[in-house]
Amino acid sequence: MSVAYLKQILTGSRDIVCLLGRAPAIAGGCDFYREDYAYEIETKYGRSPGEIFSSSFFINRPKAFYECYREEVLKRRGGPDACNYALKRMEEDGRLLGIITRGFFNHSRMVGCKNVIQLYGNIDANTCPHCGKVYDADYILEHTPLPCCENCGSLIHPGIALQGEILDNLQITRAADLIARARVLLVLGTSLHSTLGELVKYFKGSFLAVVNSVEEFADHKADCFCAGNVAEIMGEAYPGHHPIGGAETIEKDRRM
Ligand SMILES: [Zn+2]
Repeated sequence: MSVAYLKQILTGSRDIVCLLGRAPAIAGGCDFYREDYAYEIETKYGRSPGEIFSSSFFINRPKAFYECYREEVLKRRGGPDACNYALKRMEEDGRLLGIITRGFFNHSRMVGCKNVIQLYGNIDANTCPHCGKVYDADYILEHTPLPCCENCGSLIHPGIALQGEILDNLQITRAADLIARARVLLVLGTSLHSTLGELVKYFKGSFLAVVNSVEEFADHKADCFCAGNVAEIMGEAYPGHHPIGGAETIEKDRRM
């Protein structure tokens, strides 16, 4: 399926919702999402990331937890790539309703995207469990070995969801509601087969588009599927601004 068709969908539709996967973050220099990262962590710390970034490890070994959180998450967060800027333009043009992601690195917020639902938290929302004061990533980086609350001295909880913790149900409900309102669902930098891709079950709209770096069988269910360099595809599919004009209708392309 061609990028030209994706461009037609994105520049000619409103009520677009994006499920944003990890590929754009990796392209933006975020090491944490690289596939070989887990092995690096395990070699360096003698424990798997799943073990370190778990609720029980945080409670029992907070100093070790925060050392790893600073070094492997906060210092290797990377930055926004071209996809985030394309999404920002879509939001400014009134076409994008919002972004839903498992990513906690805030790359979309950094470029100014406003409606971002982060299912697994946010590295700039480290919170005091006692008084609720919120601390950004820089505060955590600067306050070693243990970052404590300025107000009450309690140990701050990291802003990301840890293994063994219950996800914020409110965010999941918000995500499901947003997807249900979408006419176009853009699955970007991940597959329909992924955990994030499973949210497609809430979609009742017209066009399902998938843009990913690799081609997976499940993605052929989409109305439009583009495989390749995700940033390049998005730069081509949504170049510059395309504000909403009059009545916009897109015909479905049935050539697969
Ligand atoms: Zn506090």
